[in-house]
Formats: sequence, C-alpha cells, structure tokens
Amino acid sequence: MLAHRVEHFVESVIRDMTRLSLKHNAINLAQGFPDFPAPWELKRAASSAIMDDYNQYSITWGAKDLRDEISRKAREYNHIEADPDSEVTVTCGSTEAMMASMLALLNEGDEVVVFEPFYENYGPDAAVSGAVPRFVPLTDDNSIDGDVLASVFNKKTRALILNTPNNPCGKVFRKDELKLIADMCIDYDVIAVTDEIYEYILYDNKKHISIASLDEMKDRTITISGFSKTYSVTGWRIGYALAEKTLTSAIRKVHDFLTVGAPAPLQHACVSALRFSESYYEELAGMYDGKRKLLYNALIKAGFKCSLPEGAYYILADIPEGTGMDDTAFARYMVSEVGVAAVPGSSFYRSEAGKHKVRFTFSKKDETLMEAARRLEGLSI
Ligand code: GLN
Repeated sequence: MLAHRVEHFVESVIRDMTRLSLKHNAINLAQGFPDFPAPWELKRAASSAIMDDYNQYSITWGAKDLRDEISRKAREYNHIEADPDSEVTVTCGSTEAMMASMLALLNEGDEVVVFEPFYENYGPDAAVSGAVPRFVPLTDDNSIDGDVLASVFNKKTRALILNTPNNPCGKVFRKDELKLIADMCIDYDVIAVTDEIYEYILYDNKKHISIASLDEMKDRTITISGFSKTYSVTGWRIGYALAEKTLTSAIRKVHDFLTVGAPAPLQHACVSALRFSESYYEELAGMYDGKRKLLYNALIKAGFKCSLPEGAYYILADIPEGTGMDDTAFARYMVSEVGVAAVPGSSFYRSEAGKHKVRFTFSKKDETLMEAARRLEGLSI
C-alpha cells in the first residue's frame, strides 16, 4: 500500500543516467556536477570547522553567521533586503528550499505556473504538494509569449516557478520579461518561487536579475539559491530561501520537521565562501565560458543542432537527424555505445518537444570534455 502522492512522478532521470553512466564506464555529461576540485580555501574551512567542533545541530533555520552573510550578499548582489533573523532560511540544498517552499505555500488543487523547458524537480515538487503544474512553453528563441503566459493565470493560480539562469536551456530572463511576470503575479496575487542557483554562471555580459528586486515583488517572492554550483560543492547540500516574515515562518516549520537543519560544519565553511573576492566570480564565469565553447564545438562537429547558452552549464541539443531514435533510446545508445551520458530531453518537457533533444553538461574538466568530444566524433548515424 503506497500513498497516492508518489504515483504521480518517477525517480529522477538525471540521477538514473548517472547510475547508467557508471555502469557503462561512460563520460558523465548527464548530471550537472563538477569533476574538478572545490576551492582549496573552502575545503580548508570545512576541515577546520569539523576540527573546531562545529559538529552539533546549528539553529534549525541556519547558523547566525551564515544568515548574516547571506543577507549581506543578497543586498549587494541581488538587491534584495532580507532580515537575517526573520527572512533567511538555510536548507539542505536549494532542492529542499524549493520543496519546503511549495509545501508551505500550496493546497490541494492550487495551480503552479512553470516555464517549459523546466528543471526536472518542479513537477514532483508540485505533485507532492498536491498542486497542479500549468506549463508555459518558451518560444523557439527562448522568449516568453505574453498571451500564453496570461492564458494560464486564473483564480486557482497560487505560485509561479522561475528558474533563471535556466536549467536546461541556459536562458537568462531579461528585465522586461521579469516585469511581465511580476505584473501577472501582482494582478493575480501569486507568489513567485525562484531558483537562482546558477546566478553567477553567466556569459557574454549577461546580467542576473532577481525578480524580488522589482517593485512590489519583494513580499511576494521566495528567492532560492545555494552554494552547490557557485562554489563547486554539490555534495554539501547547502542552500537557502529568502522570503518575507510570514512566508519564512511557514517555510521554517516545514524545513524543521523535514531535516532539522543543514550540516553545521559546512554551513560554517560557507561563511568563508561568501567572503571570496570579486575575482572568484569572474574566474568562475570565465572558466565555464571556455568549457561552454569546447562542448558546443564538439556537438556541432558531431551533427547536433544547438546554440550557446546565456547562462548555467548545460547545452540542450537537437538529436542529429536520421537516427530514427527518440530521446530516451538515443540517450541509452549514447551511454552504452558511444560512452557519453546525456539526459533525455523529455525530462525537461511536458510536451513532445523534448523527444528530439538531449541535455549535456559542461561542468567538467577540459580533459573530460575533450575525451567526450573524441568519442562523439565516432557517433555513427
Ligand atoms: N542540477 C543538476 C542537474 O540538473 C543536478 C541535479 C541533481 O541530481 N540534483 O543535472
């Protein structure tokens, strides 16, 4: 006997591809995590935190010194004022922040607006909360069609999920687009729940804008981010949610009973991450820019159709014509015969559009990407 809530989603395909990749000894360009070392200073801070005995529970909603630093970073980088004592919650990764927020916000039958393509977790997040996702496809050039957006809002709409920079397509939402979304949220009294985990991974002078910084949006936005991608520590599971007091106290209640708290010594180390100098972020984006071009060139050479992403560290590519395979068959063929793992596009779409696509990550060492490029040259279709 199982609960109905687990019938409406399947296990993560991204994580499944990682398991398949290990089984076939393939290069894992499926799951987005670095295969290169985390910053040395950060590792040293974590080791010291353990040796200095930061080994017991921190305050359930986050260590005070970390909340203070997150609040400062939010003011300086995101232009969001978040009181560290009542508006910041530290969670086990942004994944938990997103789930805790949805559980805190949504009732059975409420509707949640989600742009397509979307990160795999949002569907299950909505399903577990009892909510119904309403998908808004981005146009072919990754823009928002205002009429389509307006058509999904109604009196049942309670929340909208905004992921910028976007995983999987790399779109960075522009100010005018955020304004359009904000106007809809204000008109329908909807809360925006954002996933800004790739906020520092931007290319070609793109700028990250947090929708909470727009007029009238601060009190109707839950801004979510974390340390995994910016500091290459995806296994630490440290994320956070910024929201006005009433929302925050609801999120904190869910968070407390789900996890008690995020790992205390790693929270302590994350304080030092937030004190890295400006050059760290420039180097991070510069490093990923090189990797982006390396993977892009390899994919084009191998016959994929794709474009350079504006942000994040993925390329969503059209499967070369003539394979006769859908995305799942093609991804399985790639992992077992070519030795490169990617994620089937249908993980990111409700519509059929994903059936012709696969997603690759370039969050890997150059040598890993070059070996993947070599293997892709042998793609016989
Ligand atoms: N965000 C990463 C991805 O999209 C990792 C997902 C995960 O497994 N948590 O690949």
